[in-house]
Amino acid sequence: MKGIRFFQTIQTKLIIIYVLLILVAMQLIGVYFVKTLDSYFKTDFADSHNNQVTLLAEYVEPYLTAAQEGKNAENKRTYNELNDVVNKLFALSNMEIQVIDANGVVLSTSMPSHQAIVGQKNTQKEVSRALQGIKDNERIFTDIDGIRKMVIAKPIGSGAKIVGAVYIVASMEELYNTMNRINRIFISGTLIALAMTAFLGVILSHTITNPIKEITRQVTLVAEGQFSEQVVVKGHDEIGKLGQTFNFMINRLKEALTLNEEEREKLASILINMNDGLIATDNQWTVILMNRKAYQMLQLDEQQIQGKTLADILGIEEEMIAQYVLGEHNATNIQRYHSDADEQLSLRISFSPIHRRGHGVTGTIAVLQDVTEQEKLEISRREFVANVSHELRTPLTTIKSYLEALDDGAMEDPQLAGRFIGVTRNETERMIRLVNDLLHLSRLDSRQAVLVKERVNVTDLLENVSDRFSFQLLQRRIHIELTVGIDVPDIHVDRDQMDQVLDNLVSNAVKYTPEGGKIRIGARVLPNKQLEVSIRDNGIGIPKKDLTRIFERFYRVDKARSRNMGGTGLGLSIAREIIRAHGGTIRLDSEFNEGTTVTFTLPTKPTGGSEA
Ligand code: ADP
Repeated sequence: MKGIRFFQTIQTKLIIIYVLLILVAMQLIGVYFVKTLDSYFKTDFADSHNNQVTLLAEYVEPYLTAAQEGKNAENKRTYNELNDVVNKLFALSNMEIQVIDANGVVLSTSMPSHQAIVGQKNTQKEVSRALQGIKDNERIFTDIDGIRKMVIAKPIGSGAKIVGAVYIVASMEELYNTMNRINRIFISGTLIALAMTAFLGVILSHTITNPIKEITRQVTLVAEGQFSEQVVVKGHDEIGKLGQTFNFMINRLKEALTLNEEEREKLASILINMNDGLIATDNQWTVILMNRKAYQMLQLDEQQIQGKTLADILGIEEEMIAQYVLGEHNATNIQRYHSDADEQLSLRISFSPIHRRGHGVTGTIAVLQDVTEQEKLEISRREFVANVSHELRTPLTTIKSYLEALDDGAMEDPQLAGRFIGVTRNETERMIRLVNDLLHLSRLDSRQAVLVKERVNVTDLLENVSDRFSFQLLQRRIHIELTVGIDVPDIHVDRDQMDQVLDNLVSNAVKYTPEGGKIRIGARVLPNKQLEVSIRDNGIGIPKKDLTRIFERFYRVDKARSRNMGGTGLGLSIAREIIRAHGGTIRLDSEFNEGTTVTFTLPTKPTGGSEA
């Protein structure tokens, strides 16, 4: 945060406010005080001088009256006495005093330097007014020497008998000097008050600015993400309240952030653990977020999506995406080759717009679902239905054509009729086998086939199966060999189901092994305590390309041959389902033209299922 300049600090502002307040207050007080003092001094000055002049006028009145009455003998003495009084008064009050007769002629002056005006006429306006009997005559003026003076003239005598006037010119210098002294005291007092105010302002403003600085420091820490510290609340004033509110706000903020963090973590873990891929974009379709699953599905890394749009990474045109996002059909399928699994993935992408209140559409969410398995299942379901229909149609067509032939007259030929009926019976039996196999598979698929487990001796199990095929083996001169390890224990299996597995596998070995061939059935215990049973033949074998699909339903390497042998193409599928239901595994290894080995394992320890 930038520092605050000195003149912008609250401290400076407070000091300036204090000083200005004091200055304005002192100015107002000063103006009022000086004005009052000025008028008081002037009034007092005028009053005291007026009194003095009145007194003097009364004092000199007998002198002037006597002089006018013509007692000339005493005149000289009178004037001398008058001069004496006037001079004494001048010495006392330091003002010029003139005694003027009724004609305006100066009879006496107290000013030694002005003695020349004695006998001359004083023509001042105030004197004329006083001689006319007017009592209040005063005026303030500035003399040529720059000194302010007050002129007062008072009539001597009263009514119609005005015998003269007393005229004084009093210097007001002393008064103004006093006023100036008072002003100076006042100004210096103001300056001291201002200095003290500034000094106290610095100290007192600290009490306000320090807590504010403290709160500012805390706010800065909080802004930087440190919520651990709290503001120390020192008082209960407004700043103390601010500190308390701030602490409250920090706690609320901490709670809100923790909540937010938790929500984000929840969201992040949902995004990470989601089974679907998720891509979020802004309103320009630029990718802003992708979860781990989406990276996996699209086989991309973070660098590869930098600045890329949804169209770039999905390989769909932008206009199309806009239609999906805003239109009715908001999903599409794309194909992606997945190098890890070496297969074509089928991805279903659903688009939905992100709306923000007041801002319209601000982005898009694309959800990616791996529908490869679903599609495979759908395809195999369709194939299954087609296969079943085909498998049923073939015997039915044969039966129909033989029955037609019988109807058309073959019945008449007993030999032919017997053969035809034999064929229809065979086809019917094949159909029954097929339907039984299908029902068996369907029960295994829907987990309806409850395994009724019982303790079974492995040697017994395998000997029984070879016994069941002994006639066929003999017919085809196939040698069978049985090897059971001495440590092979009894197992807990559903005997009927296990017979079915072994019948299917041994019948395949018999079917696909030429005359004079050899079949070896072996049983041993693996180091992981599993029982391993293998049925090996040296028959026609299976080409490599067919091996991966050999356990699929109706999958046959050579359809015509299998069908001729009475196979339904479901034997291996049924065997696999039964082995899986017992908690085991089954695999088929084969070399074309050399032979085939089917190996399955079973747990030797009893597992689930009901015991017989
Ligand atoms: P099928 O009823 O046709 O025998 P299976 O599911 O049992 O059906 O076998 C599927 C196909 O696998 C057979 O059609 C055959 O082509 C091949 N097959 C199975 N076992 C053997 C084997 N031991 N030797 C050669 N091919 C075999």
